[in-house]
Amino acid sequence: MELDNHAEDLASDLGVDKEEVKADLQNLVEYSVPIDEAKQSLRRKYGDGSSGGGGTPSSKDIGDITPEDGNVTVTGVVLTAGKRSIRYQGDDLEIVEGRLADETGVIDYTSWEDFGLSPGDTITAGNAGVREWDGEPELNLGESTSLSFEDESLDVAYEIGGDAQLADLQTGDRAVTVEVTVVDCERRTIDGRDGETEILSGVFGDESGRLPFTNWDPAPEIEDGGTIRIENAFVQEFRGVPEVNVSEFSVVSAIDREIDVGADATTMDVGEAVHTGGIYDVEVSGNVIAVRDGSGLIQRCPECYRVIQKGQCRTHGSVDGVDDLRVKAILDDGTGAVTVVLDDELTQQVYDGTLEDALEQAREAMDQEVVADTIRERIVGREYRVRGHLSVDEYGANLDAEQFAESDDDTEARASAFLTEVNA
Ligand SMILES: [Zn+2]
Repeated sequence: MELDNHAEDLASDLGVDKEEVKADLQNLVEYSVPIDEAKQSLRRKYGDGSSGGGGTPSSKDIGDITPEDGNVTVTGVVLTAGKRSIRYQGDDLEIVEGRLADETGVIDYTSWEDFGLSPGDTITAGNAGVREWDGEPELNLGESTSLSFEDESLDVAYEIGGDAQLADLQTGDRAVTVEVTVVDCERRTIDGRDGETEILSGVFGDESGRLPFTNWDPAPEIEDGGTIRIENAFVQEFRGVPEVNVSEFSVVSAIDREIDVGADATTMDVGEAVHTGGIYDVEVSGNVIAVRDGSGLIQRCPECYRVIQKGQCRTHGSVDGVDDLRVKAILDDGTGAVTVVLDDELTQQVYDGTLEDALEQAREAMDQEVVADTIRERIVGREYRVRGHLSVDEYGANLDAEQFAESDDDTEARASAFLTEVNA
């Protein structure tokens, strides 16, 4: 049902102005409040005591819940419970998110009321709402949910608590616990929702890999080289890769343990890497099959640093462009293709020249495309090993390269090694 229809329903039920109700609904939905919960909240605001439901829904096994179920009653063990705040109509609303399990399965939940849930609790949630998220059912515990704690604890085959390794974290994970070394950390001032505010951002590492992080309420334990334990962090996508979010509700403590941050990135097939939807640190190998337009000598907007065409920035109009070098190369390994983006430094390496050299070459040829052509001749048809940050969006997969090196095991080397073996 469209928001408009929901608003009309509510407005006629409550006898209030539709536009007003619609604006409120819009607001709630923008803050990811599910529509049923949003309507309940507005019923309360406009003074309708009814809970909107009817009768107590039947008990269900978690494994049997589908997105089509309206409301259910479930009994399960709280695996994780993480608090976080969202902004609604100028107020901070605290919500609790986590996972609930029984013998038949596990389900994500969001609690809009503070029921005091802790990992290990066995609970029965009567009249819990079900919504669909990413094709999967999710539970909503709200004011209309009757929640009780069971004395008899349920035995489930899932680990209680949110202990995780960085390599296993995915966008959407809640209430996770990690033990990491702070590989890189910087303090920044951003324009937050309450004006200027300081945050920390950087990179965490553990035995399994590395991930970027943001700490919204700077914790003194988070500093370069520090080894820390973080409870109740959540994972959100930022610029196409998962990022660990440390909030005011996260518990950060220094730990006395060596964490050996692996130097190696995860190596994957291109197809497999693209399928993950984004990885912070990954290594792939393949053939450069083309160098795309917008490579070589380019101009950027001095304001927003985006690439401009013929002195025109899409946002800032006519500007004095700043010269720069970059490469967008298509790398293919037979399982998939990705656009590898080389920054100015890596581009200088494959071009084998500086920005000044490129400007000089373009001046002589009276065409700046010659720089891209030179790069094309050097790298197309060769095999490269690339390490960097992979992001995937509707326009395709981009790999921001940190390392770009010709493979040692190119075809020629493999062929001659094979011949040596055969001749031996
Ligand atoms: Zn611009």
